[in-house]
Amino acid sequence: MKIKNKRLLKKGFKRVGGVILFVISMFIINSIFIKNKNGLLEEMPTLDVFDDNNVANQEDWNLLLVNKWNKIPENYKPNLVEVAGGEKVDKRIYESLMALLEAAKVKNWGQMPTIASGYRTYEKQKQLYEDKIKSYRNKGYSKEKAKEEAEKWVAIPGYSEHQLGLAVDINGATYDLYLWLQDNSYKYGFIFRYKGDKTNITKTAEEVWHYRYVGVEEATEIYEKNLCLEEYLEIKNK
Ligand SMILES: [Zn+2]
Repeated sequence: MKIKNKRLLKKGFKRVGGVILFVISMFIINSIFIKNKNGLLEEMPTLDVFDDNNVANQEDWNLLLVNKWNKIPENYKPNLVEVAGGEKVDKRIYESLMALLEAAKVKNWGQMPTIASGYRTYEKQKQLYEDKIKSYRNKGYSKEKAKEEAEKWVAIPGYSEHQLGLAVDINGATYDLYLWLQDNSYKYGFIFRYKGDKTNITKTAEEVWHYRYVGVEEATEIYEKNLCLEEYLEIKNK
């Protein structure tokens, strides 16, 4: 009787072990793939991090220059994270951005400023660009003039920093907030990207709301020497 009981016990353990193994493997499969709304299997976006050809993974990703003359690289796939309000930014700048917004509360009636615009897809940028041209056309501008005016404010699709996921438009309750940002954002790695005294270089109108992440060390130098990103990179790459 005793021997029989032992055998039954062993069988039982084997069965339980098998069930546990099955549950663990299902869990692993589930964490690699997530199901979208249509029930189709989709790769998790975080897998892009391991793609060596992804330009977003290059060493100096924080200094990637996208402007009127430098298009976003073909194979640029940022790893995004959502911020309050629904906009997305590159995961690597999330903590710095939250620290900046938290510190900015003092100049925003104690409220955390919001992100009006973060990462943009090519399609989103195209829509904004076309809408801006249309608004100038509606004001009576010629086709050419409307395009020229629009491009001072909205970048041509493919040429917007927002497509990097490293730039944000900050929405504040007071103008004081913007003045504070100009003198403090560098401590968190962000630069006032389109300053009024640099429009001759950037060819972009002053945008007090637009901030670009470059890293604390870089932002500090840019702030202290009063440079724009184009000037900083020119000096650095000499
Ligand atoms: Zn912007």
